[in-house]
Amino acid sequence: MRKSTFLKLKVREAAFISKALISPNHVVLAHIIPMRRCNLACGYCNEYDQTSKPVPLDVMKRRLDKLGELGTAVITVSGGEPMMHPQLDDIIRHIRSTGGIAGLISNGYYFTPDRIKRLNAAGLEYLQISIDNVVPDEVSRKSLRVLDKKLRYLSEHADFHININSVIGGGIKNPEDALTVAKRAVELGFSTTVGVIHDEDGTLKPLTQKEKDIFHQVKKLGNKDHARLNWFQDSIAEGKPYEWRCRSGSRYLYICEDGKVHWCSQQRGYPGIPLEDYSMEDFKREYKTEKWCAPTCTIQCVHQVGILDNWRDPQMSEAEVRKEMQKKKESERMVQILRPQ
Ligand code: SF4
Ligand code: SF4
Repeated sequence: MRKSTFLKLKVREAAFISKALISPNHVVLAHIIPMRRCNLACGYCNEYDQTSKPVPLDVMKRRLDKLGELGTAVITVSGGEPMMHPQLDDIIRHIRSTGGIAGLISNGYYFTPDRIKRLNAAGLEYLQISIDNVVPDEVSRKSLRVLDKKLRYLSEHADFHININSVIGGGIKNPEDALTVAKRAVELGFSTTVGVIHDEDGTLKPLTQKEKDIFHQVKKLGNKDHARLNWFQDSIAEGKPYEWRCRSGSRYLYICEDGKVHWCSQQRGYPGIPLEDYSMEDFKREYKTEKWCAPTCTIQCVHQVGILDNWRDPQMSEAEVRKEMQKKKESERMVQILRPQ
């Protein structure tokens, strides 16, 4: 990444963090799915299929415009494998036109020098690739040996920030691979993070002692900013629940290929409201609603978004939130009735 581009991105990041700290009334991060299809079939994954079609570009643009209206600071395209979408460059370009920071999560298989240059031209600002092991096995083919050439292309041609996420847990055979992956990422000039893989219903799989040791070594190698933000992981690695306020459905949105808003990739189905109908009332309800799955949640990006508001606005159960909102509506109605004509 060129130094001037890096500095511009840092300034934009600082601006969105300050805005998010001052006001809790806009979306900070949205993940949007332009197609569910993936070229791989990782054993732990519940986020892909092998048949679905890409979401048409005009539909994607309408969804992105709505995210823009909700003040979304960062829009990350995810999947499935979003690089399989034939109009990904246009999608990235459209994110930039909303004023949002444009991110991409990919398995890395489709990067060639030409493809990287097209993403530079489209205005991509941030890429994350997760690498699960060194040599492909029956659980995952997101492997350093397969992807190393792609990483070298990225190191040479990309004008966007690249983070390599290694993973621990979830049936990954050789936990020491995470350390090899992180060292290679640093060598190529990328930032690196480590994630604990969730099980099928999105909750925690406790780490073994060996996994824990490697987890701490990889964290030390990694991006210091992320390590500071991811202190929740220390509790999770110890198998202890972590107390925090998940703001999914408000400050964080997950938009599936059907255009519906969900809490996150692991809690699809709720609220399940089409993005085009998503209102500030929905936003406020979800902001205040305590998420039952929070104590053992391993989803790094939602934790990071949660930090921005952890110090304000305690949450309550969904029933209490609905009751409170109903009371508010009733008193507003009374004010209307009693107002002199
Ligand atoms: S590459 Fe990503 S989306 Fe595809 S199967 Fe693996 S984890 Fe799932
Ligand atoms: S706590 Fe939030 S991000 Fe984590 S699984 Fe639950 S809804 Fe998803």
